[in-house]
Amino acid sequence: MSKQPVTVIGLGPMGHAMASTFLDNGHAVTVWNRTASKADDLVAKGATLAASPAEAVSANELVILSLTDYEAMYAILDDATGAFSGRTLVNLSSDTPDKARAAAAWASEYGAQYLTGGVQASPVGIGDPKTFTFYSGPKAVFEANKSVLEVLTGTDYRGEDQGLAALYYQLQLDVFWTTALAWLHALAVANANGISAQDMLPYVSGTVAGMPDFFGFYTARIDEGEHPGDVDRLPMGVASVDHVVRTAIDAGVDATLPAAVLKVFERGIAEGHANDSFTSLFEIMKKPSA
Ligand code: NDP
Repeated sequence: MSKQPVTVIGLGPMGHAMASTFLDNGHAVTVWNRTASKADDLVAKGATLAASPAEAVSANELVILSLTDYEAMYAILDDATGAFSGRTLVNLSSDTPDKARAAAAWASEYGAQYLTGGVQASPVGIGDPKTFTFYSGPKAVFEANKSVLEVLTGTDYRGEDQGLAALYYQLQLDVFWTTALAWLHALAVANANGISAQDMLPYVSGTVAGMPDFFGFYTARIDEGEHPGDVDRLPMGVASVDHVVRTAIDAGVDATLPAAVLKVFERGIAEGHANDSFTSLFEIMKKPSA
């Protein structure tokens, strides 16, 4: 049986890798991208370049979107809604849960089925079943398209609420970007002291490798809403982060990032958590600061 043909709209590094992976796996692929030249090598590999977004949507029942954000989707598809009926749009672009819900309602207004996705892989990981993508939306639509979507990555279906895949994705990115920036900041301080990124690699890797145990220890307490100061106390955290800030300043490095962390710790003290663990910051972070 011939494999299901697919349309991929958006050929940044991610959409390009997706279109290429579908081609490698024997799927006929129609592509469209604002900058048409990004399709050149895909066309050379056998893809069809659609002349317009509407033509790309019309070409196949399954339409994958890989765009910078949802605004890009509206910019591209606002004039193509007449082709939506009977199509399944799978939006693998990043944006907020609310935007995902609104986009699903918009697509359904024009007769399209819709799934939200959040890709947990880099373009290099596309085609590797060990990577995965969060999905949400109607279960039946997910099940009907699961095997084709698994050409790209493994799948983790989070539920019917269209916002869920976007939510899980953003939660992961919350950890990812903050961690990645902390790494860069530490490297800048190291560098100012004559230590290279290469020298730091085993030490930073060791710290990050220890985080699952650290999270594991505190997780049950956080779920119980308990933050006893039996292992760590917030004032120790304040002093420690203050040392990080001053180490950066002494090295002539921008301290904006650890200074922001210090502010959160200090707010915990101001709100009465001086005898609690640093995890009590979880409670104050649930409320916006005054
Ligand atoms: P890019 O931002 O590099 O490219 C996205 C695509 O969006 C391009 O095709 C670009 O067109 C198009 N685009 C952006 N704005 C507009 C617009 N106003 N009108 C028309 N087209 C527009 O993203 P990536 O390919 O890297 O990623 C795609 C999605 O996947 C993003 O949402 C990203 O967050 C997510 N993601 C990316 C990962 C990565 O490592 N790259 C990892 C996990 C998820 P043009 O080529 O003409 O500029």
